[in-house]
Amino acid sequence: MDEVEACFICGLVSNDPAFAHPVAYRDAVCVVFLSRFPWAFGHVLVAPAMHRERLLAGFSMSEYAALQRVVYATGRALGEYVDAVGLRVSAVEGGEGCRHAHWNVVPGAGVAAEPGVVDVGASRDLAARLRPRISWLLAAGGAFGG
Ligand SMILES: [Zn+2]
Repeated sequence: MDEVEACFICGLVSNDPAFAHPVAYRDAVCVVFLSRFPWAFGHVLVAPAMHRERLLAGFSMSEYAALQRVVYATGRALGEYVDAVGLRVSAVEGGEGCRHAHWNVVPGAGVAAEPGVVDVGASRDLAARLRPRISWLLAAGGAFGG
């Protein structure tokens, strides 16, 4: 229980101001937010709203598929608003300092010149731009080109 209480993603989901991040999308089952320790500008985390530690066994197949729809929409939206070549998507189970399963969606193939340096204003602006686009992409359900 202590791990759950200390979990920053659960803190974000419960609106604890100590764990506030720019949120790009949120619904009953997941949250999408800009990293405070980005590998590159636009580094977004997609996480289930509930504390789950196992990437596969922690979810039913339909829950997992629903989260992957959000990962897809997030990556597509990032591609529209962040000028970078390439996109990395990685899944994390049992990460150091955060056991809450999540997916990193990171624009670009390289590493930022100064990893971990956050432009807070730019992150908030990006989250505000991503918010309607991710919602639109999810509502469209793949009924768009590209
Ligand atoms: Zn958690």
